[in-house]
Amino acid sequence: MSRDDELMKMRYGTLDSNDAANRDVYDDSDWEVRILWFSALASISRVSHVKRHGIVFTTDEVRSFYSNSDNCKNCLCSLSSILVNVKTGEIVEKPLLERMLAAQKKHLESK
Ligand SMILES: [Zn+2]
Repeated sequence: MSRDDELMKMRYGTLDSNDAANRDVYDDSDWEVRILWFSALASISRVSHVKRHGIVFTTDEVRSFYSNSDNCKNCLCSLSSILVNVKTGEIVEKPLLERMLAAQKKHLESK
């Protein structure tokens, strides 16, 4: 299996387990597991990937991004599960998000 395929397999595993948790655990609650996007913020990272750094997506939004096979090629991004209150928008790891967005801004400005 190529490195790209291996990474995509891991990403789809994360998406599948999030969907299962939302269905089986959080179904009747205000909470939902979503995906916090981490770009590697590397010199070779594409701007379209860097721009997702520190942003929270639904699993469908992530699947849609990777349904474009160009986005799967040489992608170093990683996906992390994050708990979001769908009613209030509250995110459990807010300080982390703020640090990530600051790093993203710095990276884009250095281009
Ligand atoms: Zn990427």
